[in-house]
Amino acid sequence: MTDPTTSLAIPHNRLTFGDAESRAAAEAVASGQWAGGPRVQALERGLQHRAGRAHAIGVASGLAALRLGLKALGVAQGDEVIIPAYACVALANAVLALGASPVSADVAEDWNLDPRAVTAAHTDRTRAVIAVNTFGVPAAVARLRGASVSVIEDCAHGFGLATPTGVLGGRADVAVLSFHATKLLGAGEGGAVVTDRADAAEVLRAWRDYEDQPPDGTRLNDKLSDIHAAIALCQLERLDAMIAARAARAQRYQARLTPTAQRTGAFRLPPAPAPRIWYRYAIELTDRAAVEVVEAMRRFGVGAARPVTDWRLPGGRPCPVADRAYLRVVSLPLYPTLRDDEQDRVCEVLDAVLARPVRAHER
Ligand SMILES: *Cc1c(COP(=O)(O)O)cnc(C)c1O
Repeated sequence: MTDPTTSLAIPHNRLTFGDAESRAAAEAVASGQWAGGPRVQALERGLQHRAGRAHAIGVASGLAALRLGLKALGVAQGDEVIIPAYACVALANAVLALGASPVSADVAEDWNLDPRAVTAAHTDRTRAVIAVNTFGVPAAVARLRGASVSVIEDCAHGFGLATPTGVLGGRADVAVLSFHATKLLGAGEGGAVVTDRADAAEVLRAWRDYEDQPPDGTRLNDKLSDIHAAIALCQLERLDAMIAARAARAQRYQARLTPTAQRTGAFRLPPAPAPRIWYRYAIELTDRAAVEVVEAMRRFGVGAARPVTDWRLPGGRPCPVADRAYLRVVSLPLYPTLRDDEQDRVCEVLDAVLARPVRAHER
């Protein structure tokens, strides 16, 4: 993302933090235990507890969590891993780093992996499936499990919420988190894996470090620092408040934008299953290209964004819903600190941009 979002009057992301994070980071520094210390362990206990799982292992990033999570599930050279065609490029990178092949399967109208597309993509080389709780909507993890294939629940956008199918982060063989600054739980950088499987936890603890091991090119130093862990733990303590604040902002968008969507037919509102986490408020344009609307809104100082960049290589299976998502989905600013006046401005600017006739090159 090369856009200077910070220069926008209303940025796409704004971090949520306060004295707790500042104090925790300062205390971690003052403690002299910057790595492998008690804060990593405290965060791991907190995540374990929140997901209702037996083990949590802090790592350096969400990508490291995916890579090591797949490795812990036995994914190796020559295997196939099914991933959503509309998702962060980190998923494909994690699979490729193990010498395995990412196989993209189409998403459904809620932008989550479509279980029917997963069945269609399945071969005798399929070893695992990665399901993302995209934008905070719970993925159909229960329907993807079984069939001798392990499932990873990617919780970078959605973690810790109780749902009828279990708590987000506690529904699959392995769940992964990213603590990159702009994620649901932000700490600058960092990640974690949560699992009930003792064998997977053991692999993860062994492989995040390279110390006292022979060189084999797979130990890439995936450890989490205590300074990042201290911040992530504060964010975890704020999680319920952040989820509630995000939901309140989303309700306000729904109330304001439902009549506009109905009157103009210019866009579809985000999927709103209950419960969900409102990590992103992503609308689908009807006949305009997202890139055009994003650029036009940015000229008014509003940080709209295309939330996912197309990473797919030519030659994959046809994924018409993902194609549409890449072309038409626009994410509006949504975070706990978004003020009412800012949100009103976002809606005004969206109205103004959509009121202009669609030109052929904008489709
Ligand atoms: C950001 C993200 C990742 C990767 O996390 P990093 O910490 O940036 O490596 C993985 N999956 C999803 C769904 C993400 O949004």
